[in-house]
Amino acid sequence: MSFMRTYIKDVFKKKGKVEVYGWVHDIRDLSKIRFIILRDISGRIQITGVKGKISAKVFNLMDSVSRESVIKVRGNLKDSKQAPGGKEIIPTEIEVIALAESPLLIDVGDRSKTELSKRLDYRFLDLHRAKIQAIFKIESTITTAFREYFIKKGFIEMQPPSVISSASEGGTELFSVKYFEKNAYLAQSPQLYKQMVACSMEKAMTITPVWRAEKHNTIRHLNECRQMDIEMAFAGQIEVMKEMESAVKYIVSEIIKNNKKELDLLGVKLKIPKVKYLSYDKTVKLLKIKYGEDLSPEDERKLNEKFPDTILFVHSWPVKIKPFYIMPKGGNVDSKLSEGFDALYKGMEISSGGQRIHLPSLLEKMLRKKGLNPKDFKSYIDSFKFGAPYHSGWSIGLERFTQCLLGLDNIREACMFPRDRDRLTP
Ligand code: ATP
Ligand code: MG
Repeated sequence: MSFMRTYIKDVFKKKGKVEVYGWVHDIRDLSKIRFIILRDISGRIQITGVKGKISAKVFNLMDSVSRESVIKVRGNLKDSKQAPGGKEIIPTEIEVIALAESPLLIDVGDRSKTELSKRLDYRFLDLHRAKIQAIFKIESTITTAFREYFIKKGFIEMQPPSVISSASEGGTELFSVKYFEKNAYLAQSPQLYKQMVACSMEKAMTITPVWRAEKHNTIRHLNECRQMDIEMAFAGQIEVMKEMESAVKYIVSEIIKNNKKELDLLGVKLKIPKVKYLSYDKTVKLLKIKYGEDLSPEDERKLNEKFPDTILFVHSWPVKIKPFYIMPKGGNVDSKLSEGFDALYKGMEISSGGQRIHLPSLLEKMLRKKGLNPKDFKSYIDSFKFGAPYHSGWSIGLERFTQCLLGLDNIREACMFPRDRDRLTP
């Protein structure tokens, strides 16, 4: 007879004989009575064995199986006042599917104090923990909701290349890779590619990995991260900020709706964010900081204190501190201000975006103004020579967003298998 694997959450709704599969979360041996707390991705259930009332073989096994071993249990589901969740299984049969070695390499108990770097060394085991699973269940809701929101709005999901022949943003923080006889790089952003799609298919979205060879090790940077990007033709910075506003509100509402258990476990109270638009000029005045510089982490924290639970769009940045491809105000090469913005949420930059330059001659002028050589950007410039509408877009860092939303101390907590200055495994 073949059984369908049943989740513990569904077993709770059943009566009589049940079969469950899962991990041995905890074992308690009170000599005449033995308990196993069995765990699967959906929840936990108590397995109770009283000596003499269940088979000696099963009773002995309940003591000999190690924590985190994978077992199959068949038995009778009973109401129980003492058991967590009000039900327990009296086992008639236990099969060990995979015996876990002991001791475990790290503490995976609910109150584990194992430090982050050690946990990441053994991430496969760290992923056994309910709290860690909660983070990634929520991250999965984020990507699903992001995709859903934009697909419903008629966006095309695109897949940009990861290996590129030259810098997409003119920066230096690139990883080089050997590509047959040529030198190539890992993409630091899908920028050029999403622009080409927006200039042909109008509305593009993607969730894609990017690589940045920044040498610094911070709590908010990874060397490989995922970005949730959009690019829209016939749109300016205001329109795409509005899209972000409603997309983030939708994502947060989906988390509140679908991840109540996970939020409780992490002790996070989420609210649909408020939204505020503030020009760069006004932001600088408000913070009393020097004009013409990027916002420091300290500035971002202060803005969060002034505007809590708010997506703060700081828009119309000075041209000088935005990338060369951001449109100067009015399409005028001499404008001091640009159509570029950053979005801040819970004290950190979650996104940058803006209107792009779609006019080849203006692009050349801006490159020169930034001290770059238009020749190095020939194919980029050429892509706008044959019918390119004005367009705008942005990019939200997935792990950064998850970190902000859940108040995680370190971005590595929001990345299943982080890559940083020192870590290339697992
Ligand atoms: P930051 O100023 O925080 O270093 P950035 O301005 O260099 O970021 P952008 O090029 O604007 O980054 O990328 C868009 C978004 O991608 C950022 O707002 C952030 O959410 C995320 N992001 C960028 N770089 C990293 C990184 N190294 N690690 C994790 N997330 C990142
Ligand atoms: Mg940025």
